[in-house]
Formats: sequence, C-alpha cells, structure tokens
Amino acid sequence: MKDKIEIREEGMRIGGKVVFTKEVIEVKYPYTEEVIGTVPAGTAEHARQAFEIAANYNSKLTRYERSQILQRAGELIGERRDYLAKWLTLELGICHQHAIYETKRAQDVYQFAAAQALQDDGEIFSCDLTHNGKDRKIFTKREPVKAISAITPFNHPLNMVSHKIAPSIATNNCMVCKPTELTPLTAIALADILYEAGLPPEMFQIVTGWPQDIGEEMMVNEHIDIITFTGGVPVGKLIANKAGYKRQALELGGNDPLIICNDLSDADLEKAATIAVAGATGNSGQRCTAIKRILVQESVADKFVPMVLEKAKKIKFGDPQDPETELGCVIHAQAAELFEKRVYMAEAEGAEILYHPGRQGALLPPIVVDKVPHGSELVMEETFGPIVPIVRVPDNDEEVMKISNGTEFGLSSGVCTNDLNRAIAYINGLDVGTCNIWEQPGYRIETSPFGGIKDSGNAVKEGVTEAMKFFTNVKTYSLPWP
Ligand code: NAD
Repeated sequence: MKDKIEIREEGMRIGGKVVFTKEVIEVKYPYTEEVIGTVPAGTAEHARQAFEIAANYNSKLTRYERSQILQRAGELIGERRDYLAKWLTLELGICHQHAIYETKRAQDVYQFAAAQALQDDGEIFSCDLTHNGKDRKIFTKREPVKAISAITPFNHPLNMVSHKIAPSIATNNCMVCKPTELTPLTAIALADILYEAGLPPEMFQIVTGWPQDIGEEMMVNEHIDIITFTGGVPVGKLIANKAGYKRQALELGGNDPLIICNDLSDADLEKAATIAVAGATGNSGQRCTAIKRILVQESVADKFVPMVLEKAKKIKFGDPQDPETELGCVIHAQAAELFEKRVYMAEAEGAEILYHPGRQGALLPPIVVDKVPHGSELVMEETFGPIVPIVRVPDNDEEVMKISNGTEFGLSSGVCTNDLNRAIAYINGLDVGTCNIWEQPGYRIETSPFGGIKDSGNAVKEGVTEAMKFFTNVKTYSLPWP
C-alpha cells in the first residue's frame, strides 16, 4: 500500500510573511481525486497589498548578486528534485517521469538567467556618423519597471512560473504571481526556494484565490507596468481588453501540427512516428506545443499509421506515482471526458479509432484516431490531452499548408522532410511562431525566443533572453564626449 499523502496547507507569500485566510481552495490529486493541499482563497485586497510592497521596493542587487541567487535557485531545484517531482505529480497528475523532466527544464531556466544577468545589456552609438554629426556618444541602459503581474496556467506548475520569475530577478524587477488555483502548490515551494537562495521576498510574492475574486486586481492594479500571462485564449483576450495601456505578454493556446512529408524512407517514417507519439503524449498532452494534429501526406499514410499505432500501444499508462509509468492523468475527469467526447464526435464524422483501451476518470490513454477530418473539433480546437489524431492530407505541400494554417491558432509546428527546399517552403509558409524541422513543435532551449501569433499569442516572445528585454525599459542618454 502507498504511504498516505500528507496534506499541505499552504499560505500566500506576501512581503516575507506567510498569509492564510479562513476560506481555502482545495487542491486535488487528479488520479484519486483526494485533497492533497489547500491554498488561501485570497481577495483583491491581498493582491493590492502585494503590489504596494512590490512597487515600493527598490532592489539594489548587483548583477553578480542576482546571478548568484539564480544559480543557487537552480542548484536547490536539483537538490529538491524528488520533492518537487512528487508534488508536480500530485497536483497535476502527470507521471513521475514527466515531472522529473519538468524539474530539469526549470533548472535550465535558472542557469540561463544566471548567465544572462552577467551580460551588459547597454548599447553605444557614436554620433559622428552623418554630416550633421557631433562629437558625442549615445548610450542605452535597461531599467526595471515598477511591478510585474504574472498569471500562470496549470500545465507546467514549475516551468511556467520559472519562465516569468527568473528573467524578472535577472533584471532586478519585483513580481507578484497568481498561480492557477488548480496547481498552486509548486509555485509556493518555488518561492521558498528562491528566498532560501537569497532573493528578497519583496521581489517575488505569491497570491492565490479564485479568479473571480482576485483576477481583476492582477490586471488593473495601478502599480502594474507589465502583465505576463500564460494560459488559454479567453482569459488572454480578457486581459487584452482590461489592461489597456499596460504592457502585456500573452502566451496562449495552440493546436500544433506535425507534418509528415511523402519523401521519407521507411526508417525515416519510424523516426517521425517516434516524434509524433512522444509529442502528442508528453506531459499528458498538456503542453501548449503538444502535437495536436499529425498531418501525414496521403501516399505514405498507410505505412506511417501502423508505426504510430505500435508506439502508442507500447506506452505504459496508469498510476502517475509509479516510476515505470510513462503516461499519467490529465488535470481532471471533466477535461478527460471532453477530449474523449471529441474523439467520438470525430468518429461520427468518419474518423477511425484504432486504439482506445478505456478511460478511468482523469486517466486518459493515448487514443489513436486515424482519418480525422481536418475540420473536426478534435483537431480544430485545442484538445489538451494525450490523443494521437492523424489527419491524412494531400501530397501537395501548398494544400497541406492551407490545412495547417486553417485554424485560429499559430503557436508552433514540426515538419519531417529530408528535402531542404520543402523544409524552407514550410518554414516560410506556416503561420506560426516556431517551425522545427525533424523535431517536436515543443522543441526549444529555455533561452531561445518562444511564442505564438494569431490566437496563440500577441507575438511577444518568452524565453529568458526575450523576457529580460520585455521586462525592462530602455533609457537612452548621451554624453558630450566622443
Ligand atoms: P486558463 O486561461 O484557464 O488559466 C490561466 C490562468 O488565468 C490561471 O492562473 C487562472 O486562474 C487565471 N484566470 C482565469 N480566469 C481569470 C480571470 N477572469 N482573471 C484573471 N485571471 C484569470 O488556462 P489553463 O487552463 O490554466 O492553462 C492551459 C492553457 O494555457 C492552454 O490553452 C495552453 O495552451 C496554455 N499555455 C500556453 C503556453 C504558451 O507559452 N503559449 C504555455 C503553457 C500553457
């Protein structure tokens, strides 16, 4: 029998204090629906306090000190890997293997931010370049803003928060974060790690609450200069409407394609099938860049589909805490139900379900569906689970691009071809933020620019380097010397 899970009763982290409220929000383990923790049902007043503290704090940390804190935070994540992975699995329901992977990605974020904090971000312009030139120089420096509001989604409880706080620390900013009410416990553990690494608590505060009670303050508080949001399209668009003049990074949903071209050999098709199944099922299919549509060209489809099927059938799904498990749960049973319903809707439209060994609550297997019509809801919407939907598309690349571009989303994409001309045509022709040849759409390193267009985001990029630019104001000054 498994050890009984101890329940974590957490408080908010406001100005160095742990703050509790009478009303709490329960956090449940998706696999068993047990309550595994609680966080305060905070209110707008809590968010106001936190922003007041953030706006009045003027960090004097040197680049060296910031880099050291970030470095140490990354080390602590490594030292606490098992603890963090355990709670990632408990609050999100993903399997232990996927949870471990997330802790490693987060470490990378701190490693890059620590290195980047040491780089000078100023520029110098000589002024004697034109016939009106003068003997002086123009310089730039980057300054932190008053306060940053961060609102994060449920699906990467550690990495999404890290992608916001690490560049914030590197640029000497003060951030107030409202993690999702579904998986807030990891964000709180991360805050404690950062304080232990030496971060002044004013520079990272956590408030929790129901969106209807605390959400608005996270968008409109007078001290907020920047809102950095990762989540779904409806909330992203609500922020765009409410936040007005405030600078916004909106990183929203996706339904990324993996395109399988007809120039592939059998061995290449095997390689592509491995990418397809891993990309559709990683993190239980709950990545904004998970493969949500496998677009395979008609003339190789009959060879390719059995390869996908075989690999999907091999995935060991089940108890998320079992270290052997390769696929755990989605966030809750209602989400799993919706995705399964979309599979049946696609079937009614002519798709063929090749593998569906049965759903148990939030535990959704890697359902393989072939011949999905490209206009079916299963692949037009963001189906945020480990479904493996195959859409057979014409051999003509132009038509494939049209189908691929025919949804509201434009986050990322993957293309498997060995023909450089075709690869370049796809890179140019796909309306997306990223195109990876011979890789999953989700492939990135944590400092490379990342973000989508269309409904997938307002084209403001994340990734440590871009986020550090976004989180700062450029001040230009000039001096009367050459
Ligand atoms: P969500 O939009 O439901 O919630 C995101 C956050 O917004 C949560 O913290 C939630 O509490 C908050 N929120 C909800 N209503 C609010 C309101 N009225 N005011 C203020 N805040 C409010 O998204 P989710 O279901 O948690 O996350 C999954 C989504 O995130 C998917 O669409 C996924 O693709 C997307 N995502 C995008 C990226 C990216 O980089 N583009 C990365 C990860 C996840």
